[in-house]
Amino acid sequence: MYNKSLKELSHGLKNGDFSSVELTHEYLNRIKQHQDLNAYITVTEEIALQNAKDADIRIASKKADPLTGIPVAQKDIFCTLDVKTSCGSMMLDNFYAPYNATVIEKFNQTGAVMLGKLNMDEFAMGSSNETSFYGAVKNPWNINRVPGGSSGGSAVAVAAKLAAYSTGTDTGGSIRQPAALCGITGLKPTYGRVSRFGMIAYASSLDQGGPMTHSAEDAALVLQTMAGFDPKDSTSVDLPVPDYSANLNHPLTGLKIGLPKEFFSDDLNIDMAKKLAEAIEEYRKLGAEIKEVSMPNLKLAIPAYYVIAPAECSANLSRFDGVRFGHRCNNPVDLTDLYTRSRGEGFGKEVKRRILMGTYALSTGYYDAYYVKAQKIRRLISDDFKKTLTEVDVIMGPVTPTPAFGIGEKMSDPVEMYLSDIYTIAINLAGLPAISIPAGFINEMPIGLQIIGNYFTEAKILNIAHQYQQTTDWHKQTPKGFA
Ligand code: GLN
Repeated sequence: MYNKSLKELSHGLKNGDFSSVELTHEYLNRIKQHQDLNAYITVTEEIALQNAKDADIRIASKKADPLTGIPVAQKDIFCTLDVKTSCGSMMLDNFYAPYNATVIEKFNQTGAVMLGKLNMDEFAMGSSNETSFYGAVKNPWNINRVPGGSSGGSAVAVAAKLAAYSTGTDTGGSIRQPAALCGITGLKPTYGRVSRFGMIAYASSLDQGGPMTHSAEDAALVLQTMAGFDPKDSTSVDLPVPDYSANLNHPLTGLKIGLPKEFFSDDLNIDMAKKLAEAIEEYRKLGAEIKEVSMPNLKLAIPAYYVIAPAECSANLSRFDGVRFGHRCNNPVDLTDLYTRSRGEGFGKEVKRRILMGTYALSTGYYDAYYVKAQKIRRLISDDFKKTLTEVDVIMGPVTPTPAFGIGEKMSDPVEMYLSDIYTIAINLAGLPAISIPAGFINEMPIGLQIIGNYFTEAKILNIAHQYQQTTDWHKQTPKGFA
């Protein structure tokens, strides 16, 4: 059953070929079998089986939605009522959320089965899933390699078939990058498309939740459930949600694809360039026109992001002070001791580095030089995209500079680690939607193709991704031992 698409699972459940309880048991067994991948922080077996029983009743009474009864796993950044919500941090190791994130509520309403909470980089800061308090997650394509981050657990859960699909969040690439490195499909929606209510904040002006799935067809179904206006999130956008599944089959004749010369310069890894050229050739065969475009400010994305994201995180993470929730140190002698020791003990090294950088960038005397300057660059980058997207329908490019790197390889060099997001970060700064789809292998490790569209054109992006997946089978490959 675990090899089926979401549509096939839904049909199977409705036809009575198998029950949600059976399907859920199958995934729970696989999770136990493959614990060494460290994809899950918490397995919610009891909740899953209860959800499955409820789903079977709902299916029998013919009130099922497309995702009713299908097992999902959630990134441990989404608050889940009475279930540990750790955000990958010791700080929240004892935190049981008092409410559900809107995204979780939506999955509950549709009758999805929650298998558990997925491992992630601490507070979503990282590109390798090595900063988690719960240890590194392993890539099922090669367990000595990283799965990417921060939604590494989410990518592995799907790639290794430990859930039918999962959720991730993307602040600078955290859905697309691990999706690419694990050979799955990951969609970062337009900023404001999916509610951030109850999604623990890293950098609020950049964070966006989205689906991680085997295919664009699956992603269309999952986004349908996740998307929509939420009055509880002031940055949620009140626009109608199109029928994503109904739009997958438009032909691509005449589609204008832009290839930014800054993405395809001599700096691009030669094997990566070759694989991407093959993918783009496939689009040409599907009727697309390919055009070179230029976005001169793309090169400023990493420095701008690594001012803005830490600045926002230093503000967002100030709430973890040992007073209201989260880790509290033993026997504080006074208030300052309580703050400093609780935060000193609760946060890991990378999170502390970001808080320090962000506090510095926001401090009097440096604010204009760093933060304001970075915001101006952000505007220039958005303008580059806006202009380019009047010339072409979508932009394509790499997701990552290389396939998955080795565990431990970049941990001592943060700048090298930050460069893993060189192709994804600009999209968050502009707030645009983008997908990563499997586009082949380099040395037996998967790589992704990125498709970036205009604001709120997720339906079009999914259509373009789906058409490619109709003529290629990269997205159907499974790591050895997980088929
Ligand atoms: N790797 C980037 C960072 O560490 C992006 C992370 C993310 O998208 N959550 O900030």
